[in-house]
Amino acid sequence: MGPEFARLLVCVAALLSASQATAAPLEVGFAAVDVTPDLKTSGPVYLAGQESNRRAEGVHDPLFARALVLADGQTKIALVAVDSIGVQYPLVQQVRERLPNFQYVLVGSTHTHEGPDVIGIWGPSPSQSGVDPKYLDQLRDGIVAAVQKADQNLTAAHAEYGTAADPTLLKDFRLPEVLDPVLRTVRFKRADNGKTCGLLVQWNTHPVEPDGNKQITRDLIGVAVDELEKRQHAPVVYFSGPIGGLMGTPEKRFLDADGKHIAKDVYDFMRLVGTAVADLAEQALAGAQPIELTPLRVSAQPTMLPLANQGYRQARAVGVLTRPAFAPASGEADRGTVIPPSQLDGEQLVESEVAYLRLGELHVAAIPGELYPELMYGEFQEPADPGADFPSAALETPVAKILPGPKILALGLANDAVGYIVPKRQWDVAKPYAYGKKSAQYGERNSLGPDTAAAIAAALAARVAEAQASQ
Ligand SMILES: [Zn+2]
Repeated sequence: MGPEFARLLVCVAALLSASQATAAPLEVGFAAVDVTPDLKTSGPVYLAGQESNRRAEGVHDPLFARALVLADGQTKIALVAVDSIGVQYPLVQQVRERLPNFQYVLVGSTHTHEGPDVIGIWGPSPSQSGVDPKYLDQLRDGIVAAVQKADQNLTAAHAEYGTAADPTLLKDFRLPEVLDPVLRTVRFKRADNGKTCGLLVQWNTHPVEPDGNKQITRDLIGVAVDELEKRQHAPVVYFSGPIGGLMGTPEKRFLDADGKHIAKDVYDFMRLVGTAVADLAEQALAGAQPIELTPLRVSAQPTMLPLANQGYRQARAVGVLTRPAFAPASGEADRGTVIPPSQLDGEQLVESEVAYLRLGELHVAAIPGELYPELMYGEFQEPADPGADFPSAALETPVAKILPGPKILALGLANDAVGYIVPKRQWDVAKPYAYGKKSAQYGERNSLGPDTAAAIAAALAARVAEAQASQ
């Protein structure tokens, strides 16, 4: 089983029971809960995503946990999107413990860079965590409450699936330039009156994250969600897809004929970009076609990922990163012994999760970090640049190829935030650097290591195989 180990999970039981039953009609419920920290009563709130020691000074717009609950009479699952840099797996496990009536709960993060540090590395100094444990409690409680409220709103519904592509709305800030320009959406319509009762949206970009901004905000994603909710008169749950690489917004799309910025200021820029995302979503909705989403099946397993990054190991040693690391297991039933944070050498692993959700005709990959778009469709540069560290490494199997059907969602930062998931052939920390560059391109220092992508691809393939075997 490679880096994985077998462990029985409730979701496997759910998978088996769901496969044996004829599913009842789909039910869906939506709800959102405010998870903005209270700056008046909290200590300093360190904003995640840019330089460290960036203290929040105000709230431009509130952060939310947005939940969508799906039920088919046998199985009930929740998909939650949180306005956060990246909720970590241990918190997701706490959420699940509080929701025992759900066969599966997926918690994804929108990746705003203007919300509280929930990982640790953006504190007042390199040796001090930026995480306020009280905020983690608030976040956990908010996610749980959003799911419970959505559960109360369950109503019989039909679903439609639509996509629309716009490569002019994305820029890859790292060579080679590869995009996932496809926005994917699922629209839910009430079975009784046909009215839209909620939307799920997956789009693939970083926030515009104005430099040095100290206001809490959902960034362009907040604009896109608010705009869509206003236009469609229905709640929206937004997930970030393959945003590694690094996916951001091209300035040139938002310049006037004289080459001047159309936006008056950074918040106006967020508004313009977010509105363009909402426009793209409406384009996807315009072509959406009915899709069967039942029966609901989930295959999810803890997945051990190699922790090669020395920076992360050092952050563990000084207490800035607190999640456990493990020595390699001796056998499949063993998850490996916990390694003391002070240990810097030797092989180390972190526990994360890769999941495959088979929702009727829809195939959903739950990827625990920021996937490079190359790994979505297999658009690898061939041959790799000889300056890269492993130009002849094996190519990873792309997500779209692993998923056994054309109607897909690729939810990134799902249940964890392990950083960038980089194709091994692009890994480039040693001289000479690829593309003749004088210094390494940005990415690797926020990645677990060069073998993360292969481990995640293998885990996803195993989850798909498991789900297919249970049919
Ligand atoms: Zn990122």
